[in-house]
Amino acid sequence: MPPLPPEFSARVLHDVPMARHTSWHAGGPADLFFTPRNAADLAGFVRQLPAAIPLLIVGLGSNLLVRDGGFRGAVIQTHGALGVLERISATRLHVEAGVPCARIARQCIRWGLGPAEFLAGIPGTLGGALAMNAGAWGGETWKHVLEVDVVDRHGTRRTRAVTDYTIAYRSVSGPPDEWFLGARLEFERQPGITTDGMRELLERRKQTQPIGAWSCGSVFANPPGDHAARLIDTAGLKGLRIGDASVSDKHANFIINHGAATATDIEALILEVQRVVAAMHRVVLRPEVRIVGEPA
Ligand SMILES: Cc1cc2nc3c(=O)[nH]c(=O)nc-3n(C[C@H](O)[C@H](O)[C@H](O)COP(=O)(O)OP(=O)(O)OC[C@H]3O[C@@H](n4cnc5c(N)ncnc54)[C@H](O)[C@@H]3O)c2cc1C
Repeated sequence: MPPLPPEFSARVLHDVPMARHTSWHAGGPADLFFTPRNAADLAGFVRQLPAAIPLLIVGLGSNLLVRDGGFRGAVIQTHGALGVLERISATRLHVEAGVPCARIARQCIRWGLGPAEFLAGIPGTLGGALAMNAGAWGGETWKHVLEVDVVDRHGTRRTRAVTDYTIAYRSVSGPPDEWFLGARLEFERQPGITTDGMRELLERRKQTQPIGAWSCGSVFANPPGDHAARLIDTAGLKGLRIGDASVSDKHANFIINHGAATATDIEALILEVQRVVAAMHRVVLRPEVRIVGEPA
């Protein structure tokens, strides 16, 4: 690989274990790992990166499995970098991609805006939520999007309309090789809104999900008209273990890393759950988590 220009070379890390940057705490090294100073710095880094080098933009790694062989390319982290969250009108916000969803939820309540409580329990960034159309309790990220700022593989930044994307349940498709830098979001005025609703949803989560354990949340998207957790549970798979990874006893759609699971263990468990559910229920579960990188 050609040497990086001096303005980036001192700030780029090499061979960074992605286990440190994913909520599953598993996964091999990224060849290059870069945390930009801001959106312009991110675009500048992308611009000088040779086109042949694969690029992965991550937020908080809460929906990401990086295989144990690692990622042969450059990872750019938005969390801690693209952190602007500002109100631009009575009901509209400008939010950069690295802002945690929980921060958006809390700030909306302070500003008397809603419904944003559903974002409180999603432990990722806005960028990840835009990429996944993250949602919970009937709320969905893209229901609030007015327009997005993106960067392409040449480092060119532009603003795109919602109509440039096809949005569905946990699925977003749009122009290829573009990444989100931020968005304008719209909420409703909810004068007098308190944190009660948010607290209630977080409490409900604690009762039904293994919060605190190392996981990526729901591994599979719900198939139409059903719940992945119900299919996995009724297939008798709760507690199924490969290496140090197991299907959660509390919520069958969660896979837990008990401390020493490898990405290989986790991926093998994902495939096994898929196989058994397909055999028993004739339903092929679609993984919601993104799996990238090279096998060990
Ligand atoms: C305990 C727990 C509970 C969860 N509950 C929910 C839930 O209720 N609902 C839900 O929808 N999800 C849930 N998740 C999953 C996860 O939090 C969401 O998918 C979240 O939106 C991922 O954001 P992230 O920043 O962590 O993305 P990452 O995991 O860092 O990335 C996920 C994908 O998005 C891409 N991406 C990230 N940032 C950008 C960007 N700026 N531009 C383009 N692509 C980008 C990545 O390349 C990757 O493909 C849960 C996860 C955990 C651990």
